[in-house]
Amino acid sequence: MNPRRKKKKLKVKKLILFIINIIIVVIIILFLIKFLLKNDSKGNNPNNDKTVERLKESDNYNSKYKNVYKEIEYTNIDNFEEYVNSLLDKGYSTEIINKILKKYDSTKIEYIIDNEKMELENYIDLRNFELENYSRYVEYKNKNNIDYQDAVTRVNLNLDYEQYTHTKEIENPSDIDILLNKYNYLPKDYVPDNIVDIKSTTMGAKMIKVAADAFEELVAAAKSEGGFSLLATTAYRSYSFQNTLYTNYVNKDGVVNADTYSARPGFSEHQTGYAVDVRDPNVSGTRLSDSDYDWIKKNCYKFGFILRYPKGSTPITGYIEESWHLRYLGVEFATKVTESGLTYDEYYDLYIAH
Ligand SMILES: [Zn+2]
Repeated sequence: MNPRRKKKKLKVKKLILFIINIIIVVIIILFLIKFLLKNDSKGNNPNNDKTVERLKESDNYNSKYKNVYKEIEYTNIDNFEEYVNSLLDKGYSTEIINKILKKYDSTKIEYIIDNEKMELENYIDLRNFELENYSRYVEYKNKNNIDYQDAVTRVNLNLDYEQYTHTKEIENPSDIDILLNKYNYLPKDYVPDNIVDIKSTTMGAKMIKVAADAFEELVAAAKSEGGFSLLATTAYRSYSFQNTLYTNYVNKDGVVNADTYSARPGFSEHQTGYAVDVRDPNVSGTRLSDSDYDWIKKNCYKFGFILRYPKGSTPITGYIEESWHLRYLGVEFATKVTESGLTYDEYYDLYIAH
């Protein structure tokens, strides 16, 4: 063999060795990554080790859970060891137990332990889920064939109860974001401050000043951009006026029918001073033309208003569609509600009450 060939052979050998080395290193790294990931998903982090430690030290150690303990993250609460065992005894998975321990205080954890096992996996991540309402959610969901989120929101709104039962008086009636519906009412003597006359009206109407000003902007834009006239027919209504109205409707149509389109006294948004009913004076037979309504639906939030009883919302609001009833919330807030695509009732429960 000549020296040149020998040299070349040596070079190839070196290269092969180098490649083998690289392969070995890569394999080792991959193994390490896999090992670390596996340990992590098994929960072998310091918090989980602490769970095992704490249970071993306590009187509550149960050897049948010895492999399960390490999947539970330690939380610094009284009776931690007892809670872990009780929740495991109830049949909750470690994933759910971790969520329970993270989310709830001891009163709620004990509530879970003291009650029948719940399907928490379907509910615990929903922001407005209330443990105390659990059986109502299950019943309402089965009856109405809706998803978990809708069941929770609607039950929180008391929609599983008869209208005008389980009612509650609103505590801060002058707050702009109050939810007024068939389960929440204003005090009889509540009159909002700073009510002023609305300029664009058929026969006189009043609103809280900030809403009345915003309404004039809406009217101006309806004219210039939408090409139609908009007037307020009625806005603020006192308790006693609403009482007269509602009583007249009941005498004419009966309670059941009247309830679909008129609020009982105390339950009307018109008493807040933030609601207004509108019409286009150039349209006859109805309050608004379809194109008027489309424009309002698309644009009213820019002036701080929302449609309170839009199409399809009857199962939630309990009222027939009212294309003419607007509620003032201020631009920022009205924008959020509009973007959510929810009725105000649902938005309120999801993002204000919770
Ligand atoms: Zn109205």
